[in-house]
Amino acid sequence: MWNITEVALQLPTSTASNRLLQPLWDHLLLRHYIVVSSPFFPLLLAFSSYFIFSLPFAILDILGERSPLFKYKIQKSRHPTIGMMLRTLGTAVYNHLVFVLPAVLITNVVMPSPPLPAVAPTVWELISGALGVLLIFDTQYFFWHLVHHKNPHLYRWVHAIHHDYISPFSWSTQHLSAVELMTVGFWSNINPILLKCHPLTIWTLTVFSIWMSVEDHIGYDLPYSPGHLVPFGLLGGAMAHDIHHQKPSSNFAPFFSHWDRLFGTAVTVKPTKKIDKEK
Ligand SMILES: [Zn+2]
Ligand SMILES: [Zn+2]
Repeated sequence: MWNITEVALQLPTSTASNRLLQPLWDHLLLRHYIVVSSPFFPLLLAFSSYFIFSLPFAILDILGERSPLFKYKIQKSRHPTIGMMLRTLGTAVYNHLVFVLPAVLITNVVMPSPPLPAVAPTVWELISGALGVLLIFDTQYFFWHLVHHKNPHLYRWVHAIHHDYISPFSWSTQHLSAVELMTVGFWSNINPILLKCHPLTIWTLTVFSIWMSVEDHIGYDLPYSPGHLVPFGLLGGAMAHDIHHQKPSSNFAPFFSHWDRLFGTAVTVKPTKKIDKEK
């Protein structure tokens, strides 16, 4: 088992000193080793990211029409109530305490994490690893999601709870059945291992992918959202996923748009405006 002294003795190497992220990695290892080496750190990072990214949009939802961003709300006639917010947040807390936390404990006993490396990843390793994992996850979830909408039994038992709300709101991001959350959690853990990602890449990816998942559910089509900033409509974003909650036979991919385009399930802005007017 490593400790701070052993980590410190291996720092810095000539390779490490050339890396842009090395000072950050050294700081994490030398100042926060107990926290970042804990098997519960990824879980803490994931849940706190969900909470921190969701909270500002919950405040906007409570402000409703008084919010300066209300003009960007996609389904203006539907407002989440405090009860709906508490229910969805409660589902997320319950699932994490009852299913995810024991799974982390068991995994740590059966397959303990390897010691943290002394050398940071290069920026290229971090970006390419994160992008690779996102693309693999997007593919896995697209087909899983498609199958769960096509099969009525799977839909009812596993995915239907996520469609309790036609108009998504930030806390509803993790309003998932335990089976769906554990499936998503399994892929999120196994994909970076398959691509041999550095722990710093994994943690960055955790925060980034949860931000993108919350962004999918905020219910606001913000002009500076990634869906608008990334060219050629490569990302789906809030509008695409909001349409999925209104029209569940469309937009199955969580992040990117290529699988929905290939399978003819991509629905873009125009039909949504029509749906909104019809309602
Ligand atoms: Zn959703
Ligand atoms: Zn769905």
